[in-house]
Amino acid sequence: MKIEPKIKGFLCTTAHPAGCAAEVHQQIQVVENQGPISGAPQRVLVIGASGGYGLASRIVAAMGCGAQTMGVFFERPAKGARTASPGWYKTAAFTEEAERRGLYCKNFNGDAFSTDMKAAVIKEIQADWGQVDLVVYSLAAPARTLASGETVRSTLKPIGAPFSGATIDFNSEELRSISLDPATDQEVADTVQVMGGEDWQDWITALSRAGCLAEGCITTNYTYLGSEVTWPIYYHGTIGRAKEDLDRTAARLNEQLAPLAGKAEVVVMKGLLTQAASAIPGMSLYLSLLFKAMKANGTHEGCIEQVDRLFRTQLFLKEDQRRDDEGRLRMDELEMAEEVQSYVREHWSKVSEANLHEFTDFAGYKAAFLHMHGFSMPGIDYEAEQIVDRAIPLVSLDEEAS
Ligand code: NAD
Repeated sequence: MKIEPKIKGFLCTTAHPAGCAAEVHQQIQVVENQGPISGAPQRVLVIGASGGYGLASRIVAAMGCGAQTMGVFFERPAKGARTASPGWYKTAAFTEEAERRGLYCKNFNGDAFSTDMKAAVIKEIQADWGQVDLVVYSLAAPARTLASGETVRSTLKPIGAPFSGATIDFNSEELRSISLDPATDQEVADTVQVMGGEDWQDWITALSRAGCLAEGCITTNYTYLGSEVTWPIYYHGTIGRAKEDLDRTAARLNEQLAPLAGKAEVVVMKGLLTQAASAIPGMSLYLSLLFKAMKANGTHEGCIEQVDRLFRTQLFLKEDQRRDDEGRLRMDELEMAEEVQSYVREHWSKVSEANLHEFTDFAGYKAAFLHMHGFSMPGIDYEAEQIVDRAIPLVSLDEEAS
């Protein structure tokens, strides 16, 4: 069948298998064009491996560092005529490319928060690797089911005062006002429980108890600080509280990992359009302004360029890393450059439908959104019939966890 984008609000309910594969090939090309990365970890576990920063981390680890990878993700296979989720197709393409290069690659599809998933991954590490050298925790989840069976949800809300801003309608390109009431204390606590450091800590503790962490093991978690125009909804909002919790968790993990000479790193990444970011109120306006300013500056990067630069120039250095006062590694220095931020601040309240394409790169934002779902990719014949069902070799969870 032919597949077209079906977009509603910030959601696209279809994905294109060949287009998603092309997007993965493009990312691989970016990494391979830079040449191999030497001295990097060779046994890499990525939690949240099928999209955005996690997929980019897996690609850099495998195709840049030549590492063996295990990837954990929560994706939907195709069902009848319904397409799979983009992350499913991208993982299928990654797996094919890894295998073609003779690189070990194992996939786990299911809930990373669950003890069953942790047990399944540990069992596989023990059987195949013994230990892991790098654990990239790159989960962005809307909800978490606790061991008790209760499900808590994260919210994207301001704290203390209402938020009002604007969002750009994807199809009509109309600017719409949005306003959000402040979060309740319970909503703040729930968001911290979903997106804070607790599950990261649980993973590292479970791996450590099983003797799976190698000497010198590194674990990373990606965070975002962003611009003052987005602070009310992001860094000073519910999600910001969860991100603050990552800093406290990293401090605890660093104590826990010290006997192994290991390290827990919170890494501040650039704002980019990913599945998770597309759900943040007001982000379409901010990212469209940001893309405009960074492209004009020649400093725009996607997830793959960010992670590639992180692996090549920061993460594995023994000294001279770019850190802030909280000890976080900073990869957002180009986003935070004064000329970029002053452009964003100056135009933030001036954008209207009349000047949308002059002041912002909404066209680039739209293209990124379509590419994320495998649409509008160069070289793909969108008239060609597609088979929606693509297989991924998966580690069976029931069998592994039992
Ligand atoms: P994304 O939506 O592109 O990817 C999220 C990943 O998590 C996917 O692989 C998905 O399958 C997986 N996932 C979600 N729920 C899961 C579950 N229950 N079990 C297993 N896997 C699950 O998100 P992203 O934007 O790449 O975010 C990853 C991290 O990077 C987050 O911590 C985010 O805050 C951070 N970050 C993002 C940005 C940005 O602008 N996108 C900037 C800085 C930091």
